[in-house]
Amino acid sequence: MLYIPNAKGSYKDQDIGEIPSPELLYVPLAPYKWELVCVLQKGDRVLRNQVLAQSTGDSAFCLHASVSGLVGEVVDIDGYPHIEIYNDFKNERLVCEPMDLSRVDRAAFISRLAAYGIEGSGGARFPTSLKYSFGAHSIETLIINGAECEPYLSADYVLMKFYSDALAEAAAFIQRLFEIKQVVIAIERQHKKLRPILEQSLLRHQVQGRVHLLPDSYPQGGELQLIKSVTSKVISKGTLPASQGILMNNVGTLYAIYTAFFEARPYTERLVTLYDELNDKGMNCWVPIGTPISHLANAFFKPTISNYGLGYILGGPMMGRPISDSRTPMNKGTAGLLRMKERKSNISNCIGCGYCADVCPQHLLPWEFSRNTSEGRTDKLAVFNLMDCIECGACAFVCPSEIPLVQDIRRGKILMKN
Ligand code: SF4
Ligand code: SF4
Repeated sequence: MLYIPNAKGSYKDQDIGEIPSPELLYVPLAPYKWELVCVLQKGDRVLRNQVLAQSTGDSAFCLHASVSGLVGEVVDIDGYPHIEIYNDFKNERLVCEPMDLSRVDRAAFISRLAAYGIEGSGGARFPTSLKYSFGAHSIETLIINGAECEPYLSADYVLMKFYSDALAEAAAFIQRLFEIKQVVIAIERQHKKLRPILEQSLLRHQVQGRVHLLPDSYPQGGELQLIKSVTSKVISKGTLPASQGILMNNVGTLYAIYTAFFEARPYTERLVTLYDELNDKGMNCWVPIGTPISHLANAFFKPTISNYGLGYILGGPMMGRPISDSRTPMNKGTAGLLRMKERKSNISNCIGCGYCADVCPQHLLPWEFSRNTSEGRTDKLAVFNLMDCIECGACAFVCPSEIPLVQDIRRGKILMKN
């Protein structure tokens, strides 16, 4: 088991902070594996909540404007298309139709998830409408994933602390609609002071369920691992958890479901953690989807260099990725933005200690990924199940030779796809 130092800082217990809205946003047009088609043209005026782009067919999905303003160009950022919105700071909104929740059936629920752009907020960004399209399977347990084991990040903690009633109300609605026996909110033991808050909210909203405390070891948030911790069921890779009576949503996704059904608001903003190791300061705040790193750098990190926006990590230090373009925006799966002190890397050869395999939650052999990626051996990468890697970063964290295992793994995955 891997224990990493708790670095969430006192800011996790402070009130939610505020960041001014950006002048220019870049809303990602490729939310999952498909690309959305713009329904507006350059120069069109757009209101907040208005549909910007959509896909059709089995994977119908909509993307909405997170501010009011003018539509700009579609631009390429890191190989993916993004649509520009020039903010007019009027914050004019399209008022969406409220739903009579007593008349919502499962099909209407699923279609609203897609129409309101709800996708997983935990990082993988799987469309929630597809997650709930599990056909005739009956669900026994809905797990709400509140495990936020990345150091420094506390946006989910803050969401559970300040929005526990909204989360419970959404859980009660889903429980009734899908006749789910129990709702389990899984949090880490280090956050156990949330337990009474969440339990009271579950009680107030008549949710049949409980709060489950997870060990503080890293990682905890992987779907199959979390299902095992909560239900003791082992689900083999490639099996749909719903076929075993289990469904899992991240707390951020559950909150997005709440706003879609109880406030008739599409998914246009999310709670994120900003942390600056250089000045040891952090905060949690709401940001519109599409807010570029350069804006957050200016508004919060106060950079002193001209190419601000670079030198940052999107996500946490374990699973996040460095930014190569300061226009890179916050998307629906981004939990935080960090600026870390520069660390000198001291990479040496693999000494065959096996520590990386000891901590791997997927029971993989990470050194094989590094070696075979360098040699371009995609056949070997397949044999060693590279695609089962969840990029948790535990192997790289313990490696005494400081081999950048996650970077090698990501490169290997690209090699295998090409
Ligand atoms: S190989 Fe992948 S899943 Fe295993 S520890 Fe490394 S990053 Fe995590
Ligand atoms: S932890 Fe690092 S040095 Fe040890 S076996 Fe894994 S890759 Fe090699």
